[in-house]
Amino acid sequence: MNRKPRVVVIGTGGTIAGHSESPTNLSYDAAQLPVDYLLKSIPQLADLAEISTQNIFSLNSKDMGSSQWLELARCIQNLVNDSNIDGVVVTHGTDTLEEAALFLESTISSRKPVVLTGSMRASTALSADGPSNLYQAIQVSASVSARDRGVLVVFNAEIIMGTKVVKGHSIATGAFSASVGGVIGSVYNGHTFFSIPPGVSPLSGLLGSALKNNNTGWPIIRTHYVTAGETEESLLAIADLDCQGIVIVGFGAGEIPDTLLSVVLDKAKQGVYFVISSRVSCCAVMPETMTLGECETIIASRHFNPQKSAVLLSLSLCIGLSPLDIFSRAEVEG
Ligand code: ASP
Repeated sequence: MNRKPRVVVIGTGGTIAGHSESPTNLSYDAAQLPVDYLLKSIPQLADLAEISTQNIFSLNSKDMGSSQWLELARCIQNLVNDSNIDGVVVTHGTDTLEEAALFLESTISSRKPVVLTGSMRASTALSADGPSNLYQAIQVSASVSARDRGVLVVFNAEIIMGTKVVKGHSIATGAFSASVGGVIGSVYNGHTFFSIPPGVSPLSGLLGSALKNNNTGWPIIRTHYVTAGETEESLLAIADLDCQGIVIVGFGAGEIPDTLLSVVLDKAKQGVYFVISSRVSCCAVMPETMTLGECETIIASRHFNPQKSAVLLSLSLCIGLSPLDIFSRAEVEG
């Protein structure tokens, strides 16, 4: 390419667009500034790429969900289908960035880089981390070496697979890590390194028919967090509400107390889908490690944490695919 890469930066809000009256305040208002305002503070970006912007939401990501991610995914798919565009960057709040990254990876088909970033400190904070995260995200999206890798997250000098990225700290700037093998590169100004060859996850675009779906409602997915010594009442109360799926945030490798088993088995027989995930931060629930056996309506989450499991279950049900099939095909297993 003997012209500069063309990158579109899509703003959705978050702390990266946050504002506070004082640079030392820990509290701030998220999603106050449009994305082109953020870019103006980094004139050096003009050396990296020809950049255009779109601000599609101004939201704290606590208020984002499937409807917003569907709109975002459609917008990105249109952009990457355009032969004049080489890469896309999305600025997103960090609170639900891990769900957004999985949603986008599962629905978008793209050989071009699609990179999410955000920040832990508001734009007005002392040593705000937004500008460097944004600079490095644009650098990665403009890099030929980032092609054919699916949706990536660039944060705090790391490049992380969208399927595997996990938020692990509420305040620190190094807030993101990943499930096993998910950190696949490093980025420093002027240098983009990948530690593995190109390749997309098995989920890449697998649930893309959601983008063509005209449905307006999403399946109702509920979540139950298991605690030691609990009895069946609170799970029963959730399961008795209308819902198509329940994610169980279980113990260890998918254990649940005996007091809950009959509720799960009864509801699963009635057609409610259960995904069994784990409270453990490095979550690994395999079919044979769960208390209950895996079947069409009781599914092991594998490496997907509860919040990612909810996204995958919702998307699978939304387009009428078997969640068991999707969870068992979602990762490369040798
Ligand atoms: N609450 C903010 C958000 O997710 C947090 C952040 O962006 O860091 O929008």
